[in-house]
Amino acid sequence: MPFVALKNGRIYSHKIEYNLVDHCNFSCDECSHLSPFMASRKQDLEQFVEDLSRLAQVYRVRRFRFVGGEPLLHDKIVDFVDAVKQSGLAEIIEVASNGVLLDHAKDDLFRSVDSLSISWYPDPRFSKDVLVRAKSRCDEFGTRLRVARINKFRRMQVGQPLEDERLVSEIYRSCLIAHTWNCQTFYDGNFYLCSRPLYTQAYQRLLGSEVENLRHIDGVPLHEPNLKSRLLDALQKTTALTSCRYCLGTVGRYQTWRQLPLTERRKPQSPGALPNEDVATIRLRGILGWRAMEKLILNVWPSARLARALNVVLTAIAGH
Ligand code: SF4
Repeated sequence: MPFVALKNGRIYSHKIEYNLVDHCNFSCDECSHLSPFMASRKQDLEQFVEDLSRLAQVYRVRRFRFVGGEPLLHDKIVDFVDAVKQSGLAEIIEVASNGVLLDHAKDDLFRSVDSLSISWYPDPRFSKDVLVRAKSRCDEFGTRLRVARINKFRRMQVGQPLEDERLVSEIYRSCLIAHTWNCQTFYDGNFYLCSRPLYTQAYQRLLGSEVENLRHIDGVPLHEPNLKSRLLDALQKTTALTSCRYCLGTVGRYQTWRQLPLTERRKPQSPGALPNEDVATIRLRGILGWRAMEKLILNVWPSARLARALNVVLTAIAGH
């Protein structure tokens, strides 16, 4: 399973993410963070600093990425960026945005982050003009700019829990979000392998299903003893999360990007009980084959750099 590196007695990972807000100014169908269905919530700076300080005792990352929802909806975003800098947790701080609010962002934001990552959706609220202005401000403040054009999302949502244990395990083991892209996160005193445990229960409620408290079940408490060994266990876990029963990971079939109307956000249509036909089987088999080869290689040459290089190659081959 995922290669975990230790450096100077701390766990070292390529990336960690933080959901600065739960809500978004877009409502993309199949948003991996289920933002269209979440109530507005901005994270509390005090809780963030408490969790961050605890995590920084045992964890280091190359890149700390603020995500959402849309992180620019948080008016204190620069304070959060400063807190990460002070914690020493990360080498690079990045904000991921759909770009729509960039014209309203203060210079302080461009000055304080190392990298701005824009997901450019086919939506008239973001245009090349906004991008040109953002690029000029990035150039002025020495901020790296990354732009990805996105016009399709993979299906992730599942109406009812998957009952096929083997399929759940395969979806988990093939999941690029958890094991290749390092989309680990923390939220209200807990660390998570991915952000789905944060939002699945609320989404299922909208569908009319009561499910377990996934934040509790799949979370690793940050403020209890032996944090490092509990985090290592979570990062190297070979069995699926409970949340994986409600998720197709990164092997759902593509669907064209679209914005959900308000009616569907308030009362989502159930994606159906039998999503097996929505699984891209060749992709699933291909990623599992890669995982087996990756394990063999890393058993022979256990190296964080090699593990990262293999992740880059897998992403280039498998795409998003
Ligand atoms: S819930 Fe499971 S399959 Fe879905 S993103 Fe998280 S780890 Fe991957």
